[in-house]
Amino acid sequence: MKPIDQLTRANIRNLKPYSSARDEYTGSEGIFLDANENPFNSPFNRYPDPRQRVLKARISELKNVDASNIFLGNGSDEPIDLLYRAFCEPGVDNVVSIDPTYGMYQVAADINNTPVKKVALENDFSLNPTKLLDATDHNTKLIWICSPNNPTGNCFEKEAIIELLNRFNGLVIVDEAYIDFAPEKSILPMLSDFPNLVVLQTFSKAWGLAGIRLGMAFASSEITGVLGKIKYPYNLNILTQKKALEFLESDVQAKEWVKLLLEQRDLLARKLKKFDFVEMIYPSDANFLLVKTINARRIYNFLVEKKLIIRDRSTVTLCAGCLRITVGSPGENMILLEALESYNV
Ligand SMILES: *Cc1c(COP(=O)(O)O)cnc(C)c1O
Repeated sequence: MKPIDQLTRANIRNLKPYSSARDEYTGSEGIFLDANENPFNSPFNRYPDPRQRVLKARISELKNVDASNIFLGNGSDEPIDLLYRAFCEPGVDNVVSIDPTYGMYQVAADINNTPVKKVALENDFSLNPTKLLDATDHNTKLIWICSPNNPTGNCFEKEAIIELLNRFNGLVIVDEAYIDFAPEKSILPMLSDFPNLVVLQTFSKAWGLAGIRLGMAFASSEITGVLGKIKYPYNLNILTQKKALEFLESDVQAKEWVKLLLEQRDLLARKLKKFDFVEMIYPSDANFLLVKTINARRIYNFLVEKKLIIRDRSTVTLCAGCLRITVGSPGENMILLEALESYNV
């Protein structure tokens, strides 16, 4: 790969970041008259730690990754956007992405005026690394992989991802938003082997914390350094940092939720299979099912009428006729199945 310094946009490489009062003095004890805060209304009167040291130390233990290899963002959305802003010169550079996949890679690319070269997955939703590499050119900075993939639900072979990491000059981003639901292990332990690997994870799915907006990017300290330099100084508010620490006291709850949701997913799949309008249920390594039906739009509309909202993915590459259904609570899943019983083909 190219050195990170060389991959970084010149203006970002030369950027002198904003230095906040809390960057200059990092102690927690003292009388703080440095940031023009209001002395009243504690603890909300204080700016949060811009480096999120306490939270990073906890996540470092949990993930067995050095704190210098962690970037925390306002959801995964933030590192997704920052990766474009750091590495893709608008109107010049481009990225390669699998297709179909998570929509935010394209939206963030559009905002940053960076073309996305989409490479369709194989018919069985597997990934062909040669096809992705063939789509790259000397202005390709990033390759986006999502594993388990949204909306197809499958994990990709580690070997295929490793081939990309070995042969691509730029960064390979592996979005593992659903990894806690997958039998496959995270690629995170390989961080030290590949200086061009970026792994995204989130608190929005297995941890049940989509509302607090907390996403993680794991990468070499050079890459996390670049992202840290261009983020808003106080990108994680104190409520988010506190709530996350509270939940991280124990991961027992999250593990129990995952177990229950996996049981519910398999039950839902078995029951859905019996309906005449269901042609196929794709295997899932995530907390949702991709279901191929004979008339996706009509089923979607029928369910919306009953205030049951699922996702119509039928216009997406390789997903003709497909609906994406999130696994809900046992009660929610039962209501969905009952509603579908009354659907007339
Ligand atoms: C849900 C999801 C995320 C989570 O995004 P946040 O901004 O962290 O809530 C990230 N990637 C994929 C592929 C997702 O489906």
